[in-house]
Amino acid sequence: MTDRFQLVTVLGSTGSIGTSTLDVMARHPDRYRAFALTAASQVDALFDQCLRFQPRFAVLADPVRAGVLSDRLRAAGSATEVLASAQALCDVSAAPEVDAVMAAIVGAAGLAPSLAAARAGKRLLLANKEALVVGGDLFMAAVRQGGGTLLPIDSEHSAVFQSLPDDPAAWAMRVDKIVLTASGGPFRERDPGTLAAVTPEEACAHPNWVMGRKISVDSATMMNKALEVIEAHYLFGMAPERIEVVIHPQSVIHSMVQFHDRSVVAQLGTPDMRVPIAYGLSWPARIESGAAALDFATLGALTFQPPDPARFPGLGLAWEAMKGPTGTTAVLNAANEVAVAAFLDRRLRFDQIHRINHATLQALTFSKPDCLDDLLALDAQARTQAQAEVLRCAC
Ligand code: NAD
Ligand code: MG
Repeated sequence: MTDRFQLVTVLGSTGSIGTSTLDVMARHPDRYRAFALTAASQVDALFDQCLRFQPRFAVLADPVRAGVLSDRLRAAGSATEVLASAQALCDVSAAPEVDAVMAAIVGAAGLAPSLAAARAGKRLLLANKEALVVGGDLFMAAVRQGGGTLLPIDSEHSAVFQSLPDDPAAWAMRVDKIVLTASGGPFRERDPGTLAAVTPEEACAHPNWVMGRKISVDSATMMNKALEVIEAHYLFGMAPERIEVVIHPQSVIHSMVQFHDRSVVAQLGTPDMRVPIAYGLSWPARIESGAAALDFATLGALTFQPPDPARFPGLGLAWEAMKGPTGTTAVLNAANEVAVAAFLDRRLRFDQIHRINHATLQALTFSKPDCLDDLLALDAQARTQAQAEVLRCAC
């Protein structure tokens, strides 16, 4: 490491993880500077971020809005150059000047730029779990070939990473199982008979975390945990049967590792994503994150319960998908993205999300994906199937 500051590309800088990342970076201006900030379409938010962080590039997926942003930045005297293309997202992730990339786009849309960062050997801070669920072994192979470092940002996976031995070669020899904690979301105690009437507003009101809408719905169905089980499998090379989920409503223990001698190591903290983000940015060092400290004197009880499969049928799809042929986890992810979008658009009931995911997994036959283009084609194929299932549900 040199003494110079690190140049960071923040993919999805206007989102929940993106803004938390910029919050941590702003606490350490001597250590981190923005190289590129990117968003789907939020001109106002990206404009403000560009004036504050002065990145070399800003990328908007929407070309018309990119033009608007560019004009506004010029008028404000900013030197930030505005780009607008899918390729631009990959370019600002793989540029030689870039030290670290925060992958915080939501959904499979983040796969290509995350892979570009992995191939270019960057320090890759992975919040975008869908990219790994879709990319699977191909994604991990790109990380190895690129020779960079993959640092998990999902709080559970950061907790596991912090609990594991430093040397990845020791993981398989020492670890018995990984225990991912789950809050249980807003409907942990709601009468399952009323889940059909859940509104997007209710599903997005998470008890412990403020997050983007897609992950909030996933937390309410526990599909978020299903995706995280798959994420843990790929990140830590852990067999599916060695990954367990337990509901821990207080979200204080962020996850645990049990070793062969039955010793359990856990990571604790207040539920604040700036902690895993700060760790990803500074690893193996530790920097101030802005999070409040746990107050053990007032913490009260930490409780645990097994997830109820009748209330959360989607959780089991993780293990089912990992048993399937290569690409099955990508199919599950695509179906879930379509189902969640339909629910948020009020075209699908909350309790039908699982039906779409299950039906799409059952219906789709596909050939083994061998490269990024194959994965993107499989993602598109699964989306078409899931859209058809959504229409069938609406009939
Ligand atoms: P969000 O919806 O708040 O933000 C998403 C960001 O991605 C925004 O900047 C948006 O403009 C951008 N974006 C969306 N679609 C895009 C597209 N097609 N092309 C380019 N940019 C696009 O989401 P979030 O809650 O910040 O989550 C981001 C990722 O991090 C997700 O994969 C989520 O699962 C993961 N994650 C989030 C949290 C959390 O606390 N929010 C915790 C763990 C993991
Ligand atoms: Mg998580």
